[in-house]
Amino acid sequence: MIKSIYMHIPFCNRICTYCDFTKVLIDNQPVDEYIDALIKEMDTVETKTFKTIFVGGGTPTALSMEQLETLLQAITSRFECTDEFTFEANPDELTTEKIDLLLSSGVNRLSIGVQSFNNDILKILGRTHSVHHVENLIEHLQNIGFENYSLDLMYNLPGETLKDIETSLSYVKAFKPKHISWYSLIVEPHTVFYNLARDGKLNIADSVGEAKIYEAVMSGLEGLGFRQYEISNFAIDDYESEHNKTYWLNDEYYGLGAGSHGYVNSKRVSNVRPVTHYIDSMNDKGHAVRESHDVTINEKYEEEMFLGLRLNQGVSKSRFKEKFNVPIETIYGEEIEQLVNRKLLKDDGEYITLTEDGRMVGNDVFSEFLTS
Ligand code: SF4
Repeated sequence: MIKSIYMHIPFCNRICTYCDFTKVLIDNQPVDEYIDALIKEMDTVETKTFKTIFVGGGTPTALSMEQLETLLQAITSRFECTDEFTFEANPDELTTEKIDLLLSSGVNRLSIGVQSFNNDILKILGRTHSVHHVENLIEHLQNIGFENYSLDLMYNLPGETLKDIETSLSYVKAFKPKHISWYSLIVEPHTVFYNLARDGKLNIADSVGEAKIYEAVMSGLEGLGFRQYEISNFAIDDYESEHNKTYWLNDEYYGLGAGSHGYVNSKRVSNVRPVTHYIDSMNDKGHAVRESHDVTINEKYEEEMFLGLRLNQGVSKSRFKEKFNVPIETIYGEEIEQLVNRKLLKDDGEYITLTEDGRMVGNDVFSEFLTS
């Protein structure tokens, strides 16, 4: 039973210098036609009740009020959400009018793309907002009593120092969000940052400096009462992202829209990326042109480990047995024993988890679970 669905809005008001997501500048794009195509794809989904719905991008809040109304009406008239309905938002685009519309349509969680609390760095990132927009937005959310929002941040940004991390932590302390995502910058091909890095012009920390910043992030958030539940995610109480846990628990989900990924009936699928191709395929064929890969049983074992070990809770042995009908020790007994001996994993009898040392060399640990 699939419990989660993701919908992708690939439009942005400006393209950020580090971004390799599926996105286009919104100007002169066929946005209305895209929403119609997305609605057609919604109609191909058999499941009607979801634990989590996530609308991401791109930037969903780049849509106009009318477009948002059409989209939300289409979602809520087709699907019931029992738990968590998240919308991604950019701080400068989330007007009070849009907030009212989102909340009255059942959205109960906002994932706010803050990235940094340093205006100079925000400019380098190519963001359209400034710290002032974030301050105004949070003040408004606090005034209306809306608590369930995540501040989404990045670290190891060009020119960033530990002082910037302290500044961000002081904003977190003042704003009291229930959730923080704080990812390290990854320099991806086909981005402005990639070209700068290639030419030696991207001023970011080396791996030692990056580890120091990560430690400052983790200890700073812990000091503010956040519990780390994933390598880059932190929550107060039980405000973890239920939707993102679908991915880390290696459960299946639908992915709708241009360039979106899904995991359905043991197949990893990815929709065609260009917006016009996506619209044409929905109009001409009634389904999105997509690549599809049958996930083998060995790939399922590997993914269960890679993804589950990202969670602080780790990989559950009983869940593994229930899912695959085989004890984890039968598949990975030797690897687990060796990694425990090297103090990179812990095994408490039910959960296999990364140790602190293991977290610092996560990719090396994950590679031990490749079956071929
Ligand atoms: S980071 Fe977000 S807002 Fe910036 S270009 Fe990428 S999708 Fe758009």
